[in-house]
Amino acid sequence: MAVGAGLLILVWSSYFFAYRSVQNSFTNSTERALSSETTLLEDHLERSFNLVTTILLTMGEMTSITMLTPDVLTPDELKRAISTSHVIRSLSLIDSQGQVLTSSNPANIGKVLPRDAYSENTAAISWRIGEVRFGDVLPYRDLYDWSQNKTSPTQQLMPAFYTVEQDGKQLTWVASVNISFFHNVWSRIDHNPAVEIAVFNFNGQKVMSHHAQPIDTSAVFGQLFQAVSKQEIGNFYWGADGNLLVVYRTKTQSPMIVTSIASMDALSAETEQTRDFLLLIAILGSVLVIGVLLALYRLYIRQARAAAVSDNLLAGITTHLLMTRSDLDGKIEEVNEPMLRATGYTRQELIGQDHRILNSGLERPELFASMWNTLASGQIWRGTFRNRTKTGDLIWLTATIIPFQDEWGKVTHYVALYSDITQAIRLSQEYEREKTTRLALESLNQKLRTEATLDPLTGVANRRGLDEFMQQMNEQSDLAQMSLAVLMIDIDHFKKINDTWGHAVGDIVLQTLATKWSGSIRSSDLLVRLGGEEFALLLPKTPADSAKHVAEEMRMETAKTKIEVADGERPLQVTISIGLAYGEHVADQTIDSLLNQADEALYAAKERGRNRVVTLAKL
Ligand code: GH3
Ligand code: MG
Ligand code: MG
Repeated sequence: MAVGAGLLILVWSSYFFAYRSVQNSFTNSTERALSSETTLLEDHLERSFNLVTTILLTMGEMTSITMLTPDVLTPDELKRAISTSHVIRSLSLIDSQGQVLTSSNPANIGKVLPRDAYSENTAAISWRIGEVRFGDVLPYRDLYDWSQNKTSPTQQLMPAFYTVEQDGKQLTWVASVNISFFHNVWSRIDHNPAVEIAVFNFNGQKVMSHHAQPIDTSAVFGQLFQAVSKQEIGNFYWGADGNLLVVYRTKTQSPMIVTSIASMDALSAETEQTRDFLLLIAILGSVLVIGVLLALYRLYIRQARAAAVSDNLLAGITTHLLMTRSDLDGKIEEVNEPMLRATGYTRQELIGQDHRILNSGLERPELFASMWNTLASGQIWRGTFRNRTKTGDLIWLTATIIPFQDEWGKVTHYVALYSDITQAIRLSQEYEREKTTRLALESLNQKLRTEATLDPLTGVANRRGLDEFMQQMNEQSDLAQMSLAVLMIDIDHFKKINDTWGHAVGDIVLQTLATKWSGSIRSSDLLVRLGGEEFALLLPKTPADSAKHVAEEMRMETAKTKIEVADGERPLQVTISIGLAYGEHVADQTIDSLLNQADEALYAAKERGRNRVVTLAKL
């Protein structure tokens, strides 16, 4: 923004500076041009008036010394006398009454000029050179028109007078100065129409002017006269807003003031064009600057938005993932909250430390060697390893390590994102252990299936089978560590069945129930016939609640079972009582006590009325 504002200021100050210097150079060059034009005009006027003076003086000398009479001074002679000068339109000789005695223009002869107009004392006589007096510019074409007072809208004349005495009489030579001659000369000088050429006399009259619309002379003369009295040549600005430039030259020996008066407003039209052009450039420059600023601003907004999105994304990711940032030597520079929680360290303890502080020492050195090789080549490394927490526990981390590069492609630091997979690893290890245990139990059960360990009547394990099973379990230390639920099962009023239906029917009942129970247990469980109508069911790795549930199911299912004993006879239905005991670990010294506890519970079930499951109070 500041740069943009600076550029705008630069554009506009350049504009004002350029416009200022264009204006200055315009003013200077106008002053110079007008000054040289004025010099040229003053020169021209002076030479013309000198010529008029010379001719009048010569004619005067000739009249007074040689006593030439008007008879001799014929129009043709006079015409010859002024033929060298285009400035003089006519040359005439008048007497003291103003009557024209002779003239280069025969029409003038005999005419009487208004006396006031050429008298020395009249206000109309403006200024003189030597004895020659120059009168005001008059709106007549020639002396004839003047004598008739016939004004002309286009032609003007300026009379110049020189009076001599001849035989005591006053004779005056009158030269009619051709004002249009000056106008022609001035027109040929290619001056600007915005400039007025004006000649003032010292009485404050503008005696000649060359301009379509002359300026009010009375107003400018006051200041012009002041300026002339201080300095013969100079210029000043004039007008209400100083927009008129007056350049003047004067000479006291030829008392007239030649001025060029320029209307700066009109002259500066070209400057205005230049200013408009500069203004256009400045506006275009500003538009360009603003355009570039807007484009940059949009780019900035887009980048800021992208940065915000990536910040949010990173914040989101890093609430789930563990993260560290380290320098090229593996020194930790930053670590996030989840990583601190997982490792048990504080931020102060980790920052500035080498990553090896977390090393468990359990991984092969080649793993880290390959990691550094991958990172050194600028590639992302992925891998899984164990780290050690502050308390010495192991955590499993799956890491993605990204080498971060600067805009030149140089790796500046590493960012590592980790997933803590300790829990998953633990679960899968658990699963593996479970599987191993189950397979071991199954194989134990398999081994029991020999004649000696089986009950011949029901085909389930006998007491010896149970002993062997327990012994083998104890030999495998990991199995000895597991929990065990023991169900002691006894058929209610079995003696009555024997007594009523005979021993054989009793056997069928035993076989039927043993087969049914065997079919509904896990392959790792063990059903044992302890003797008579008493069974035990061993449920390894079964929580107490589940064991209770199994017992209850068994009791209900048994009560529902219809036992076919003989064709045509009604099927028998029996109930069972179950005592349940539970131990955290299977060990030699506890299996018998577990069986005893289950037996006690069974006794309690009988006591309480049979067909029920009783669990030891402590469960
Ligand atoms: P309770 O409800 O208290 O258990 O009463 P009960 O009659 O079931 O208990 P008791 O121990 O008095 O009777 C068990 C009977 O089981 C006694 C015995 O004759 C019988 N018995 C034991 N072994 C066998 C066998 O292999 N086959 C048959 N059919 N009967 C047997
Ligand atoms: Mg019984
Ligand atoms: Mg019994």
